Amino acid sequence: MTNCPRVLVRSALSRSGLPDLDYSLNPYIGCQHGCLYCYAREYTRHRDVVEKWGSLVLVKENLIELLNRETRKLKPGVVGISTITDPYQPAELTERLARESMRILLKRGFKVSIQTKSPLVLRDLDLLTSSREVVDVGFTIITADSSISSLLEPGAPHPAQRAEALHKISEAGLDVWLFYGPVIPGLNDGVESFREVVELASGCVKLVFLDKLRITPRVRESLSSAVDDFERIQSLVRNSVWWSRVVKLFSDVCARFGIKCIASIAEPTTQAGNLRDFHSE
Ligand code: SF4
Repeated sequence: MTNCPRVLVRSALSRSGLPDLDYSLNPYIGCQHGCLYCYAREYTRHRDVVEKWGSLVLVKENLIELLNRETRKLKPGVVGISTITDPYQPAELTERLARESMRILLKRGFKVSIQTKSPLVLRDLDLLTSSREVVDVGFTIITADSSISSLLEPGAPHPAQRAEALHKISEAGLDVWLFYGPVIPGLNDGVESFREVVELASGCVKLVFLDKLRITPRVRESLSSAVDDFERIQSLVRNSVWWSRVVKLFSDVCARFGIKCIASIAEPTTQAGNLRDFHSE
């Protein structure tokens, strides 16, 4: 059971340094999906949230009031929802901050780019389809194997449910994309894993983003206690030959399905980038 206390924040929109986003909006601080590979923790100033990643989430109580004010003054642009939390984590079911934020943004002429792991986004299809030309939706799927997913993404919906939602959103006429990241040596860096995931999304997705594992101190701590031979994982992630091979194999799989692949070109780092730093999660 997640504890979701309320906090007051100073702003709703942040300027984004990413090439395809002008602003980012994160309705929550922390994320109930609790992924072991998540480096958003490095961007969270609330120590309690970081220590209890996945089980403590702060709800931005004054988000909508601030957003109403800010969108009257700011120049409209593309807003990434979200960049360091999942906007459709379970808290959104009752809090509805992502939905209300998007309603305001779309009314004021902003474009919206959503990234999630949750079919809860389907709840808002009415709103999203009413502005379908300025909305896109991406799903992160890193494996079709439920045992790997439940190990690495303990609070997130099953990959097959995500794929099903992706298809429904596409059928509703929205642009959809897939995010395959992070790639973790020995867990999801094989051709079979690539093929299974790309196949799940084929028929609706024309674009896939590929990203490698980013090892931050928190990621090291959580992953090393959950997987075998973390040292080997770390050494491969730092090996450019491994990454080049992954990109080549993944691109070949995408090409077979007629899908474009954009791979992260960032060097392996212990400095976390934005979760969507090409877009990049
Ligand atoms: S990787 Fe995304 S979905 Fe997973 S815990 Fe981090 S913000 Fe949430």
